[in-house]
Parts: sequence; structure tokens; C-alpha cells
Amino acid sequence: MEIEIKYTEPGICPVCEAMALEYTDQEGRDDYMDLELTWSCNNCGAIGVEGYRMTFMEHFDVVPDEKLYLKMQRKQKLEKIEKI
Ligand SMILES: [Zn+2]
Repeated sequence: MEIEIKYTEPGICPVCEAMALEYTDQEGRDDYMDLELTWSCNNCGAIGVEGYRMTFMEHFDVVPDEKLYLKMQRKQKLEKIEKI
């Protein structure tokens, strides 16, 4: 039996409104969602799935491979010199 969903906040049970969801499984991308987290509610025993669509914001904490990075920079410098 499925029910009408009234509350659609992540981490909050849509049946009893408790913040008591325990995530039991996760699945990657399908046609509909980027991430699906299966949950069960520790308060009322309901089960369900949270669906996420992700938006790219920026790169951060980028650490290049030092050797390859220096090699690339040398190559780019050489290419600039050749163009002049
Ligand atoms: Zn619940």
C-alpha cells in the first residue's frame, strides 16, 4: 500500500514526520534520478526512497599529479614559444 506524501523534506519521515530515517541502501543514476537512497523510519517502521537530482557547482580540492602537471606546463610553454 502506498500513501499520499505530505512532507518532502530529506531526512524526515513522510508518514510520522520524525527525523528518524535510517538509510539502508543507495543506488546511482537512472533515467529519473541521479541518486536514490532507500530508508526505513526508526520511529514508525515505514520504508521509502529519497530521490536526488544533482547540480554541478564547481571543482574544488583539486590536486594535480605533480610530475604530469609540470610536464604539461613545459609542453604548453613550448607550444606558446613555437607560435610566436
Ligand atoms: Zn516514520
